[in-house]
Amino acid sequence: MELKYTVQNYDWGMKGTTSSVARLLKGSDPAAHVDEEKTYSELWMGTHPNGPSFVKATGESLGEFIGANKEVLGDPVRESFGDDLPFLFKVLSVRKALSLQAHPDKARAESLHKLHPDIYKDPNHKPEMPIALTPFEALCGFRPVPEIQNFLKKIPELCAVIGQGTVEDFISSGETDPKPHLQKCLQGLLTHNADSTAHELKKFIDRLSEMSEPGREELNARIMEKLHADYPGDVGCFGLYFFNFITLQPGEALYLGANEPHAYISGDCMEIMSCSDNVVRAGLTPKLKDVDTLVEMLTYNCEAAELKRFKPVKEDDYSEVFRPPIKDFAVSKIELPPGTPSYALPPRNSAGILIIIEGSVEVNSQVYCPGSVLFIKANEQLSLNIRTKDGRTLMFEGFANV
Ligand SMILES: [Zn+2]
Repeated sequence: MELKYTVQNYDWGMKGTTSSVARLLKGSDPAAHVDEEKTYSELWMGTHPNGPSFVKATGESLGEFIGANKEVLGDPVRESFGDDLPFLFKVLSVRKALSLQAHPDKARAESLHKLHPDIYKDPNHKPEMPIALTPFEALCGFRPVPEIQNFLKKIPELCAVIGQGTVEDFISSGETDPKPHLQKCLQGLLTHNADSTAHELKKFIDRLSEMSEPGREELNARIMEKLHADYPGDVGCFGLYFFNFITLQPGEALYLGANEPHAYISGDCMEIMSCSDNVVRAGLTPKLKDVDTLVEMLTYNCEAAELKRFKPVKEDDYSEVFRPPIKDFAVSKIELPPGTPSYALPPRNSAGILIIIEGSVEVNSQVYCPGSVLFIKANEQLSLNIRTKDGRTLMFEGFANV
């Protein structure tokens, strides 16, 4: 069953046909108009009210279709989540960094929603998982303590914003019990006077521009300058020196569980998440920053960037599955080499959403091109005839991890 989907045009998206989102939209619907001046940031697949998908043949929303045919979800999904899809599946094309943020766990999401229903609009947690389509840059989790302390020693502008005493206490404590020190540093950083922060950032950016290459490299100058160009004067730029900077290669993933600080910086990715809008922001955004909540809730696991990549499990010759430690979602990446005649999609005990990224496939004598999205009922056996003439066929399927 083919779906029509919603595309979002947020300001941080890539422009025109440089955006994977726009290219996929055009691929699935040659009549679609792509405006080269417009941003195409996200393609949404699912039942979320802010961007629902529709059944192409009937025009009915996917949510309505599921409501009238609940068995398509699969019994384990209905038992765990009720009568709706528990996940939202997306393609993202990021030109300008997204806000520095974390998502609460279930218990905190419930209490935040109760206290501030206007800001935290639902009581659900929001784990998420990006899988890179192109080299994808992100910040994720706290850096190892010696790395952070080394940056603090080399960046007096950052120390001035945090507060000299707080920084000295942290450095002299070495690596013992870093959490209270990091909390104090973040609190100092994120509550500092905005004008003074912007001034110190400007000073630092000017200093970077005059440094020689080894020094610039050590301070991640290229990323710092990009963040500052995206959000001039925003305190979140300094987040680079607390959180791991990671470049995911195509096919590599991150799993962002509850309370894990992160920011997407640039590139294209698949993303899957639980159905929720609960975001606690700290910077790189004009939106509300809830510093106290964020500083209190974060995971302060300081570990190396290499440990952050989330590994898939091989399912068959062509498919590997990313299965996080929650029931809400999993994703399989299916990559068929040139010349593969057909592929039998493994049946799932959950409804699934399949998107074709490269190549074309035929199902029941209907041909689907890149950008086509199919809804797959639980336990459905689907056989795909591969129509790709040359090159690989690349698809991703999102489903519940029940
Ligand atoms: Zn997030």
